[in-house]
Amino acid sequence: MKVHFLGTAAAEGFPNPFCLCEACQKARYLGGRNIRSRTSVLFDDVLKVDFPPDFYYHAIYHNIDLTLVKDLLFTHTHYDHFNPGDLFNRIEGFAHGIEHPLHIYGNDLVMQGLHKTLPASQENRRFAYHRVLPFKEVETQTVKITPLLADHDPMETCLLYYIERNGKRILYGNDTGWFPEDTWNWLKGRKIDLAILDCTGGFHANKRSRNHMCIETILEVQQAFQQEDILEDNGQIIVTHFSHNSGLLHEDFVKAFQPYGIQVAYDGMIVTL
Ligand SMILES: [Zn+2]
Ligand SMILES: [Zn+2]
Ligand SMILES: [Zn+2]
Repeated sequence: MKVHFLGTAAAEGFPNPFCLCEACQKARYLGGRNIRSRTSVLFDDVLKVDFPPDFYYHAIYHNIDLTLVKDLLFTHTHYDHFNPGDLFNRIEGFAHGIEHPLHIYGNDLVMQGLHKTLPASQENRRFAYHRVLPFKEVETQTVKITPLLADHDPMETCLLYYIERNGKRILYGNDTGWFPEDTWNWLKGRKIDLAILDCTGGFHANKRSRNHMCIETILEVQQAFQQEDILEDNGQIIVTHFSHNSGLLHEDFVKAFQPYGIQVAYDGMIVTL
């Protein structure tokens, strides 16, 4: 399976164009992997998770054929993940030569946002909507998914996804702090080939941070995976969704995680499972 990291920043982007903090200034000066757009991942060119404000740039810069995407999963409606206005570009009259509806999966707020933004005439023509519930498995056109509960925004049922495709199992784990107990209980006894985790924070000395994970929380998750035998023998952990507020640049994250065999995502990174 091809896992293509199109964007790897938290909400503000890295650097935040409005910010003069040291991390943003250094990122601007050094460039390369320090320049991060908002988080998004594409699987096998057909399944996309989240649709950030940088989607247009991702499609052009990474030469992505978005007409191949059949399923779109939303984790939650924060503005760095949910930018439904740009889906307007897929309606009849704007986009030509495509016949299939894009199947979209998300919580009730996602469904409401899509209905408010996109014309009703396009339902089942260019878009098909599927509200999902925590821990209720769904077969999409491309994968089997089980939405899991995140610990993120108390005003929304934010979701993570356990994704199964061609014998591989992926945990799509952002945005979230230390997983809620129900999610841990669901994961026990299951296997993961790749866990993509939220590393918005830097060093916080908090092993179970709320809302987002930090380096210490990621390491605690890795230990819990080992204790519960959740990660496959050749299983990988990749961290993403980085914030300038961490004060850390790409190489700093690499140094922090390398001893533990955890990979640090960057914009454009492709991993094959
Ligand atoms: Zn986010
Ligand atoms: Zn900054
Ligand atoms: Zn969020």
